[in-house]
Amino acid sequence: MLKETYRMTGTVKWYNEKKGYGFITSDRTGEDVFLHHTALQPQEEVQVVTGDRITFKIQNQKKGLAALEVKYFSDESEVIESDQEAGIGKSSSKIDSKIHEKIAEKMSKAFTDLSLNPELLRAISYAGYVDPTPIQAQAIPIVLKGRDLLGCAQTGTGKTAAFALPTLQRLMNTPSKDRLNIINNNKYKIIRKIRVLVLSPTRELAIQIANSFSIYGRYTGLKNAVIYGGVGQNPQVKKLQQGVDIIVATPGRLLDLMRQGHVNLSHVEVLILDEGDRMLDMGFIHDIRSIIKMVPQKNRQTLLFSATIPHEIIKFAKNILHDPVNINISPDEPTLEIIKQAAFFILKEKKQALLEYLLADSTITRALVFTRTKHGANRVVKKLQRKGIRTDSIHGNKSQSARQNALKNFRTGKARVLVATDVASRGLDVDNISHVIQFDLPDVSETYLHRIGRTARAGAGGTAFAFCEKSQRQQLKEIEQLIRMRVKIVKNHPYTI
Ligand code: AMP
Repeated sequence: MLKETYRMTGTVKWYNEKKGYGFITSDRTGEDVFLHHTALQPQEEVQVVTGDRITFKIQNQKKGLAALEVKYFSDESEVIESDQEAGIGKSSSKIDSKIHEKIAEKMSKAFTDLSLNPELLRAISYAGYVDPTPIQAQAIPIVLKGRDLLGCAQTGTGKTAAFALPTLQRLMNTPSKDRLNIINNNKYKIIRKIRVLVLSPTRELAIQIANSFSIYGRYTGLKNAVIYGGVGQNPQVKKLQQGVDIIVATPGRLLDLMRQGHVNLSHVEVLILDEGDRMLDMGFIHDIRSIIKMVPQKNRQTLLFSATIPHEIIKFAKNILHDPVNINISPDEPTLEIIKQAAFFILKEKKQALLEYLLADSTITRALVFTRTKHGANRVVKKLQRKGIRTDSIHGNKSQSARQNALKNFRTGKARVLVATDVASRGLDVDNISHVIQFDLPDVSETYLHRIGRTARAGAGGTAFAFCEKSQRQQLKEIEQLIRMRVKIVKNHPYTI
């Protein structure tokens, strides 16, 4: 429980400008703190949006904790205040560093040997990481050297930190020279330029990457913005106008904003493309080419991550990467081995009954169910809800806020089951998914891999069930060839053929 009255830091969880309120998640405890618009400093003229890093004091109000004197983290005025006034910022950072020193003691040498800046190590220790994942151990030194990289890694391997940490370090080590401008009253204003561009195929993944940059960069003072379609563009434009160092974007909306003159990519030093294969699958290649044309070609560092490396990715990589180092965290790495996999051969019309039968098992604490279509997802949800199983869904027909809400319900345990289609669930990062259930087998074998990667995140175990129709024997064989493993077939089960 938060008790402190000194200034603390946090991330805006959501803020509704029309209603004039929202919530901040405290860095210290993860608790939500109410944010009323009157708590925003009038001189700041800021528009607060999800993901903003801010500092604030708290007050215990009738209904709970509320924020006071909210300011942007790392604003020049904040630095002055914390250095000179009442030791507020100092006391907070003293306590913080004590906590982090303790956590850092638990951190393995493998992490501390990576030559990461202490402020980044502090953030990682805060996130509770002890050992770097294989892709982090391999990629961080290479990216720190400024090399281009082609990383083949499934999601769930920790690849976001593998590119975010060294990229943040690069920005910290080489601050752009023209960042500080004196404005009136001897105050400094930080002029930020977009120095890092991350492209992601889906909005959910973009939001998650931006969140990761906020978490890992919490002590760096660097700002990021996330740009994606399906929502109004004004808050995103305002955020850009206030200045950010890093943007994480889906290609379509980014291009829109570039064409309207809201985004200047001429200062980009690092370009990162995540889930490259998916971006090509989703037909973003032309958009991406148009975007890359607007990013400096000289002295640019480019990192391309992809779950699979088909021929098109190799071709694409040749065009955009300069003398890259290749890293391959292949499917036969432990991530896959710790997932228990089983397939049920079943008639289509029996699938729902099998799903309900399986869900009667209380060891399935958090299940992600994949269907082929949005309508299929809706049907499954309705039937499960009728049986009293707490279920929500995430698919392309849902509004962004409904999708975020469903994810939140799933994360917090309000929904035990989340039914998803592939596009909407790509990059979905929810801890402790005990089971992934493929109600429909995917058409493309690689998708099977992405789906089961949603469980067993960061080394935890998990179970993946697949429902196969009689005609899908060949598909299952292809999947087995891809993962280089046999999937156990469940026989003599009441619902199997
Ligand atoms: P990613 O593959 O980047 O989506 O990361 C998958 C999950 O692993 C996320 O929930 C991260 O917070 C978590 N993670 C990343 N790196 C580590 C680490 N070194 N130790 C423990 N968890 C990690």
